[in-house]
Amino acid sequence: MTVNKKQKKNLARIIAAAAMTVALHFLPVTGAARFALYMAAYLIVGYDILIKAFQGIKNRQPLDESLLMAIATIGAIALALYEKSGNYTEAIAVMLFYQIGEWFQSYAVGKSRRNISELMDIAPDYANIEAENGQLEQVDPDDVEIGTVIVVQPGERVPIDGVVVDGSSSLNTAALTGESVPRDVAAGDEVISGCINLSGVLRVETTKEFGESTASKVLELIEEASSRKSRSENFITRFARVYTPAVVISALALALLPPLFLLLTGGAPMWETWVYRALTFLVISCPCALVVSIPLSFFAGIGGASRQGVLVKGSNYLELLSEVKTVVFDKTGTLTKGVFEVTAIHPERMDERQLLHLAAHVERYSKHPIANSLRAAYPDEADECAVEDVEEIAGHGVTARVNGDVVAVGNGKLMDKVGAVFQACEKHKDGTILHVAVNGEYAGHIVISDVVKPHSAQAIAALKKSGVRQTVMLTGDVKAVAERVAGELGLDQVYSELLPQDKVAKVEALLGQRASEKERLAFVGDGINDAPVLSRADIGVAMGAMGSDAAIEAADVVLMDDDPLKISTAVRISRKCLRIVKENIWFAIGVKLACLILGAFGVANMWFAIFADVGVMILAVLNAIRCMFNE
Ligand code: ADP
Ligand code: MG
Repeated sequence: MTVNKKQKKNLARIIAAAAMTVALHFLPVTGAARFALYMAAYLIVGYDILIKAFQGIKNRQPLDESLLMAIATIGAIALALYEKSGNYTEAIAVMLFYQIGEWFQSYAVGKSRRNISELMDIAPDYANIEAENGQLEQVDPDDVEIGTVIVVQPGERVPIDGVVVDGSSSLNTAALTGESVPRDVAAGDEVISGCINLSGVLRVETTKEFGESTASKVLELIEEASSRKSRSENFITRFARVYTPAVVISALALALLPPLFLLLTGGAPMWETWVYRALTFLVISCPCALVVSIPLSFFAGIGGASRQGVLVKGSNYLELLSEVKTVVFDKTGTLTKGVFEVTAIHPERMDERQLLHLAAHVERYSKHPIANSLRAAYPDEADECAVEDVEEIAGHGVTARVNGDVVAVGNGKLMDKVGAVFQACEKHKDGTILHVAVNGEYAGHIVISDVVKPHSAQAIAALKKSGVRQTVMLTGDVKAVAERVAGELGLDQVYSELLPQDKVAKVEALLGQRASEKERLAFVGDGINDAPVLSRADIGVAMGAMGSDAAIEAADVVLMDDDPLKISTAVRISRKCLRIVKENIWFAIGVKLACLILGAFGVANMWFAIFADVGVMILAVLNAIRCMFNE
């Protein structure tokens, strides 16, 4: 059990005040001394609440729980003085239990925060660089420049994203992706920061700065996530705005009206009884359980999701995710691997190798999966040829000047644009065709094909099972390919040959078709050509490992390991979290109302009130922590 300094201090205060109060029961002190000793105990346990209450008044903040506690306890003391009963224990007990509740809450919040940061303890504070004498030197990862070769030893975390240049090993990626099976890497493979090197020594050439590396980005996202409030959290703020004044007015009415009524009807007013009931009423009314458990639930839910490799950027998105009815997918890189293989080359005026050579050159700088695949298919790409004036046209392809010739590589739309006459490929009707034109003249095409990800079909089925009504695929690829993939995966609707702006329009149309705003639409993409759609949808989900940085910025939810199955995991976690939040809201409000009514009729005294309050809070907090654990 780890407890921080402040928690230790507060625990000591609670114990000291409790011990003093018990001791005072048995000590034969009376009069002013007795009062002073009780007050000392009261102040030891409650001084910070009194200060907070006072500051609240000074800053004209709406009534908060500190003020409620202060009024109730000072009132109880005043009553004890007035009645000369000398019974100050009650006021101290109220403060004591309140503080115990607060302590428990801070412990629980601290614990889940710690859990999250433990889990997110993915950014190591050093990187190893090989010094000239062959010794390893530990340096601040912030100072490592892109292109530096760092050494990652077994047992260490990869500090910075990069490419393995030497060595082979397996990596534990669980902290980032939730995937428990280690990933084997060897020279040429990309590694992301935050993974633990399990076996061999790796030399990694860094491709990013530390601050831009995956681990740093993930940490940043998690930190920001807790600052975005959900509607349920805002609900509390609104609720408190109405609730607290209502409670205070009711308490006043309870203190004044019955005695006045009794006076008027000729009876004894019984001021003490009614003031006491009003004070009890105030103590009961404290909405601690709600105030604490709701943010905690979301916090725990976000933590639980990140354990599974799903980064949710804020509580509000967790709430939206739970209401998803339509999921729209991008095809390439999202449902398919985005690793195209060249299946055929049909040149018109040159040999196959020349055609591939030209295409790979044009794609030299593109980040599109097609480009990566072409470069892989033509490994000698980085030769002396001059590649200039590269222009990437989203949804079309790329044009560039290669050794002076204007070469265009892309789909039929691009060919129309550059005025090249092409014919459809007869042999490969449902493959993705890359046409190539040189100086506006058709030069042939390359047939490439992509395979669907292993979990895609399962992901669609899992979403359907969890209550998602509609699954849609949007793609810039040709119809034949789109329909083959959609058929394989069991998608409800498919739209093909879309430009990026068409995708936005389609999503808007789908948004317009739904019966109510509450039926949320999520868009899942890798961000290559679809960052605008990611931000247009109710929830944008990006593929984190392969996706572009722009996508990760634009998205609300990031899937760290690019596995579409994680979308249904995320939906499930969000539903569970929201269910728990609602349980807590009803439970807390229900118990509160019952206690308030009992208090008003004098059935419940202050002790009862405080037990109810702390009890509800502890149960609600325990319930909230369940959000962290998924099945
Ligand atoms: P998707 O919607 O399947 O992710 P994109 O919108 O990224 O597809 O691209 C749509 C189409 O545009 C591709 O199928 C391809 O024909 C063409 N295209 C886009 N970028 C490139 C590129 N860099 N090189 C060649 N063709 C491209
Ligand atoms: Mg795409």
